Amino acid sequence: MTALRVSEIFLSLQGEGPSAGTPAHFVRLQGCDVGCHWCDTKYSWDERGGERMELEEIWTRALALGKAPLLVVTGGEPLAQPGLTPLLEQALARWPRVEVETSGIEPPPLSHARLSYNVSPKLPSATPRWSETWRHQAAWIAEPNATFKLVVGDPPDPEDARRLIARGGLPRERVMLMPEGITSEGLRARAATLAALCTREGLRMSPRLQVWMWGARRGQ
Ligand code: SF4
Repeated sequence: MTALRVSEIFLSLQGEGPSAGTPAHFVRLQGCDVGCHWCDTKYSWDERGGERMELEEIWTRALALGKAPLLVVTGGEPLAQPGLTPLLEQALARWPRVEVETSGIEPPPLSHARLSYNVSPKLPSATPRWSETWRHQAAWIAEPNATFKLVVGDPPDPEDARRLIARGGLPRERVMLMPEGITSEGLRARAATLAALCTREGLRMSPRLQVWMWGARRGQ
């Protein structure tokens, strides 16, 4: 029996990345020590928090909320959970598509045609551990279903993003830049700057629909 620590399970819309706008079940796993100062889910950091749940219980609770074509496994840092691979294998038997949100601090645990990764390596301003989230970039580039979603705040973030994308050799067609912010006003101000950078560099911009619609509210 596999059990993982779960922070919350809910049904909403995927707010970020290439599947933004898609109805999705979310399973937020508990535990993260990456330490981003702007993290909007700090309640998911404590590895002893949340609730320890068997996989069957996770599926029962999620599917009782309604139907969705997508399951998003998020955190916390899902790759820090030892039971992640069996969770993903069972999820692929129950959902048409599965996505994992990760900092990329560990390499991809599993590759599958219907499994995607939104990998968010950190910029130097986010956390002292930022470089650790870039150390497996070769493995992530080799994973064809990985999209790189960089959170960009005020300067020097835009220039750091441009420099690290080039230095890391990230495939530009698989990179998205997302404005940092937990209010719609903050997002909008940064999105204007980011739009210019995306246009100049030929990169996509990711929305952050959950902040635009609900602010930084838990369970959305
Ligand atoms: S990796 Fe994600 S969950 Fe962890 S601190 Fe950074 S933003 Fe928060």
